[in-house]
Amino acid sequence: MKMNASTAKNYKPSYKKKTITTDPYLPKGGSKKVSVCERCHAVYSNKRWSLSSERYDMVMQDPAVTLLVCPACHKMQDDLPGGIVTLKGAYVLPHKQELLNLVKNEEERARGMNPLERVMSIKENGGGSLVINTTNERLAQRLGKAIKKAFHGEVAYHFSHDNKLARVDWERAV
Ligand SMILES: [Zn+2]
Repeated sequence: MKMNASTAKNYKPSYKKKTITTDPYLPKGGSKKVSVCERCHAVYSNKRWSLSSERYDMVMQDPAVTLLVCPACHKMQDDLPGGIVTLKGAYVLPHKQELLNLVKNEEERARGMNPLERVMSIKENGGGSLVINTTNERLAQRLGKAIKKAFHGEVAYHFSHDNKLARVDWERAV
């Protein structure tokens, strides 16, 4: 039997690396070049994002630097959150400031590890709930955990099957 091209292809070993994340906004491949987000000045090199003004100033000296818009800024621009945290119940509005302080602290901690994890918006909806949109699903989960730990109440996590969207619902009545 003659082996045709398509059969032969199947015997080719695959060197394709599996990436852990399927985030469509992440740059493809592991470029050795350094890229900089022109909006938030996050620096991308060695497959990692970092955020520091010294690093930014340094890489901007390099004429080969690529300017782009990072995944987090893209999501903010398109208003496409990766996580939605809803805080519900009578407890929420009287303790709004404490809850938001915790959200802010958690965001800062997450940002130190991955500058693409950000809070996109915080809104109060008509029903006395707070709705926090985040750029990725991990930050939403992290917020759910931290709020549950500090303020107790009940928390539930839901994940969509089609895209990477996490919904975190936290509730405390009294
Ligand atoms: Zn950016």
